[in-house]
Amino acid sequence: MRPSLAKTWRSGEPLIWLTGGALAFVLLLVAGLIGLILSNGLGFFWPKDVIRLTLADGKIMTGQVADREAIPGQPGQSRIKLKVANRDLYGADFTWVDEAEIARREYPPDVAVIERTEWGLLIGTVKEIRDGDAVVATGSEAGWVEVDKHPLQHVRFPNVFSLGDASSLPTSKTGAAIRGQAPVLVQNLIAAIQGKPLPARYDGYTACPLVTGYGKLILAEFIYDGIPKETFPFDQSKERWSMYQLKKRGLPLLYWRGMMKGRA
Ligand SMILES: Cc1cc2nc3c(=O)[nH]c(=O)nc-3n(C[C@H](O)[C@H](O)[C@H](O)COP(=O)(O)OP(=O)(O)OC[C@H]3O[C@@H](n4cnc5c(N)ncnc54)[C@H](O)[C@@H]3O)c2cc1C
Repeated sequence: MRPSLAKTWRSGEPLIWLTGGALAFVLLLVAGLIGLILSNGLGFFWPKDVIRLTLADGKIMTGQVADREAIPGQPGQSRIKLKVANRDLYGADFTWVDEAEIARREYPPDVAVIERTEWGLLIGTVKEIRDGDAVVATGSEAGWVEVDKHPLQHVRFPNVFSLGDASSLPTSKTGAAIRGQAPVLVQNLIAAIQGKPLPARYDGYTACPLVTGYGKLILAEFIYDGIPKETFPFDQSKERWSMYQLKKRGLPLLYWRGMMKGRA
């Protein structure tokens, strides 16, 4: 051994570097392990959104997007891996969906994700809640409050009425629709409390302000079955600047100063 090398070795410096390097390596491993645990474990507290896909052939699939990849052998095409859960019903937790097949994507607010002790996750909408054999709450197929579409009274519980977005009313769910529903509901509710026949009927009125371009809008107003019920004495099916101004300047006043204060 050369004298300078022997001197360095005797000084103990190489062992200090070796120990320091080993310590750094171990700390890196520990940090990596903690990072791995966090990245896999923290997702538990932020469950993935549930997406509902409508395919071109009308098939509907609901689940969580687990992965996305290019389709082998089909350049430019990709597919998503959907966790549809409900393994006991479908026989598999996951299914691949070609993105080219997807006609519509939505995030339904009424979908429930339930963790089970067997069969993994359950994904679906709540139809019925039971206490033993007794049914304590039900919903319509999509979870709406099931009401008769004209008197707004529940189809099974006569002391229950509903309106707005939560109701099963087969019309477009808008604030304008609620403006038509509220007086009907109030009159019928008071009559029901007094034991009288229900006097008012909701005709399904709703209004959809459809912005069709810069400064242009179609104000679609209709009742049940899509029958037009227009407020103004001109053809509202045409896009108009005046209707755009109504939506931009007039309706906010109606909402905030009128409807919200019970004046309109
Ligand atoms: C982006 C967007 C644009 C729209 N534009 C228009 C428009 O231009 N014109 C129009 O007429 N309509 C429009 N609408 C529709 C309109 O906003 C809704 O139809 C209307 O607000 C529904 O009113 P609602 O009272 O039935 O329900 P919501 O407004 O949804 O009120 C329900 C309330 O209940 C609360 N709630 C929910 N669960 C519970 C619980 N368990 N306990 C206590 N409280 C609870 C919610 O926090 C919420 O405040 C629009 C809607 C959206 C989303």
